[in-house]
Amino acid sequence: MTDTLRRPIRELPDELISQIAAGEVVERPASVVRELVDNALDAGARQITVRLAAGGVRAILVEDDGGGIAAAELPLALRRHATSKIDTLQDLEQVGTMGFRGEALAAIGSIAELSITSRTPDDGHALRIDARTGEISPAARAVGTTVEVRELFFATPARRKFLKTDATELAHCLEAVRRHALARPAVGFAVWHEGRLVEQWRPTTLEQRLRDVLGLDFMAASREVLAQVGPLVVRGRVGLPEAARARADLQYAYVNGRHVRDRLVAHGVRSAYEDVLHGSRQPSYVLFIDITPERVDVNVHPTKIEVRFRDSREVHQAVRRAVEGALALSRTADAALPPDGGTALARPPGQPPAQATGAVEARPLAAAAGHRWPVQTTLGLPEAPHLQAREPLPNWRPGMLADATGRAAPAPVDTATEATLPTGDWPLGRAIAQLQGVYILAENRHGLVIVDMHAAHERIVYERLKASLGTHRDERDIDSQPLLVAVTFQATPTEVAIAETHAGALRQLGLDVAPLSPGVLAVRSVPAALRGGDAAALARSVLAELGETGGSAVVQRAHDEILATMACHGAVRANRRLTLDEMNALLRDMETTERADLCNHGRPTWRQLGMKELDQLFLRGR
Ligand code: ADP
Ligand code: MG
Repeated sequence: MTDTLRRPIRELPDELISQIAAGEVVERPASVVRELVDNALDAGARQITVRLAAGGVRAILVEDDGGGIAAAELPLALRRHATSKIDTLQDLEQVGTMGFRGEALAAIGSIAELSITSRTPDDGHALRIDARTGEISPAARAVGTTVEVRELFFATPARRKFLKTDATELAHCLEAVRRHALARPAVGFAVWHEGRLVEQWRPTTLEQRLRDVLGLDFMAASREVLAQVGPLVVRGRVGLPEAARARADLQYAYVNGRHVRDRLVAHGVRSAYEDVLHGSRQPSYVLFIDITPERVDVNVHPTKIEVRFRDSREVHQAVRRAVEGALALSRTADAALPPDGGTALARPPGQPPAQATGAVEARPLAAAAGHRWPVQTTLGLPEAPHLQAREPLPNWRPGMLADATGRAAPAPVDTATEATLPTGDWPLGRAIAQLQGVYILAENRHGLVIVDMHAAHERIVYERLKASLGTHRDERDIDSQPLLVAVTFQATPTEVAIAETHAGALRQLGLDVAPLSPGVLAVRSVPAALRGGDAAALARSVLAELGETGGSAVVQRAHDEILATMACHGAVRANRRLTLDEMNALLRDMETTERADLCNHGRPTWRQLGMKELDQLFLRGR
């Protein structure tokens, strides 16, 4: 038997309790930023300045102009379960502040060097308290509070090891401030890193704050949500389906002004996009849900990022209705879109959602109908949902096309004789039509060929990218082509940070993306295989991908994934009208591309419907 079994039960020392609690509250510098900004907002701050060193690992200073902490309470602020925000159990149900567990400062103080300098309007000067020694000394500052956190995790090196690069930690800190900034437009925010101002949002209206924080692109490709459903009010903006993203990186949900990452809310939003969004695409949204405090418990989670609703169905429905309402209105407003562009989009306005109970009705508060919004078309329309599930036709098998291309390459298409062109010996035949903006129909010797044009093109571009990489095996650089005119786009601080840190990796990928001015990135060159595509969208996806994979060492697997992302961007989108020439060119490209009969996700890119199957369809005896 081991010693541990015979040890007597003891109460843990306070310090250790705090360190354990800290593990739940503080995962990384951004968690500290979040808690300190919470406190500043609760203190009524109008201006909050965050100063960081080494991504926040070396230092985090949060200065506010709030009400300050009275001298007598300074030591209390650092104690566990000490809070000024509740004193009765009833308060616990009603509390409207950002959090009142009373453990943030104690927890942070146990894993970092912490000091608080504060001054209330009644004080002649400020006082500073050192968390470790408890020593209080006079200090100089205006009314408000500065909390200073240094050397995070100095006492727990195991946790320090989990931290990422400074750039990544900085990006997380900025994201933490951004989340607050979106919800509190009347408060000014500034973030400094290593003495440089990296982000600044001045006090303004909600509309303007959303624009400042999320950028013009998001505003142009999103719709206003403003609805009351039962006891809930849902406000904010939701992105159009065609502006959906590859990652869930632009999804902000707030309950009573507090940022939450709640699966119920996320699912409610997602279900509103059900029939308008391809399964792998992520909608963008900023939603503020206001609900009477009795109907939600926001203090169930140490970092208060999860909440518990009294009636989860009510919340799910309200969110879905509100978002559906906004998307439906946008369809009316966009009625001028060509009909083929609208096939995959929302159910007609007015038609009730499938599970409507009749008891709850989404009432848009804003008269948004008839309002024209700028529509962004460069992002391409969503792929039709039916692309996802297809049963293989009996006579299709992987590798079939590759076998067929063993033969001599066919002559190029002569456009003049196109109309009367024989089906020839081309394995994939001659294009005859495009179906619903999704499929190319072609006629070959055996009958009908159906090609998923996006999937096929994606594979071709991918193989081309890989091939161009192959010619520079040593440097592993993709052939790059400078753009005549640089393409600029509004970038988040995270994107800027990634572009700066991974400039080398980007170059290897054939991309030149660099900051042009604060919040703006410029794309100056793109991979030659992808010229003519949407350079900004391409850069965005690659930056997102690099942010996830780290990108430092270009690991082969990560590299292939990035190439696949790039290929997806270079490929023609569903709903792009192609000419017969373009379709034939694609078919010929497929025939000479390795592995062209499977798309990058392993789905077939084409199918053959032989005359026999066609005859069977029509019960036609041959
Ligand atoms: P909680 O916020 O849950 O009450 P904290 O440990 O975060 O717990 O803070 C403890 C107390 O310190 C708060 O209740 C508040 O009274 C005081 N406090 C912390 N930060 C500030 C600040 N920036 N301005 C004024 N008071 C503050
Ligand atoms: Mg707090």
